[in-house]
Amino acid sequence: MSFKSLGLSEPLLKAISKKGYETPSPIQAKAIPPVLEGKDVLASAQTGTGKTAGFTLPLLQILSQNSYQKHRPIRALILTPTRELAAQVYANVKEYSEFLNIRSAVIFGGVNQKPQVATIRQGIDILVATPGRLIDLENQGVVSLKRVELFVLDEADRMLDMGFLRDIERIMKLIPSKRQNLMFSATFSKDIKKLAYSILNNPILVEA
Ligand code: AMP
Repeated sequence: MSFKSLGLSEPLLKAISKKGYETPSPIQAKAIPPVLEGKDVLASAQTGTGKTAGFTLPLLQILSQNSYQKHRPIRALILTPTRELAAQVYANVKEYSEFLNIRSAVIFGGVNQKPQVATIRQGIDILVATPGRLIDLENQGVVSLKRVELFVLDEADRMLDMGFLRDIERIMKLIPSKRQNLMFSATFSKDIKKLAYSILNNPILVEA
């Protein structure tokens, strides 16, 4: 099994080899093909399994395949529970998109919003965000989610543990109903399953 055989494009393969990865991890091998096919995916995966590349790589490929959009509306939204995770995911997005014409930004609370606002105003394709700051900036008219085509909910179980259910529901109302969804969770409680049913459309189930 190779990254190439999963259907990833040259600029991504170049970034992967720069990172030193030789073979896809199990979650990557299972999740990347259905995501590239445009399917919704519900994945059970812990941190450390390579799940971040599992959703970031196919997401970047989908965005880079579609025609270049001059005004760069946000086309992919990645929601994470904590600022640490947001920063980590963003660092991955930056690395894997090095050889693509894709712009991204990260926003989270607890820090001055000005630099975040300035980056978003320049136009970005991908936004990595924690729920609170995202809702703030949407309310202020800085962020528009009306053109989102791809939605990723990372560490969904932690989101619920941290009390973000209402925020997630609010955010779901701000993005178009016609979109591709990916949801990752380490555990599958009744509440997580309920959330998955409300967000995902006919998902492919994937286990690490
Ligand atoms: P994650 O589960 O996404 O937090 O990734 C855990 C760690 O595994 C990170 O340090 C990644 O850089 C690394 N990693 C991800 N995919 C691979 C791979 N295919 N081969 C080797 N290392 C990887």
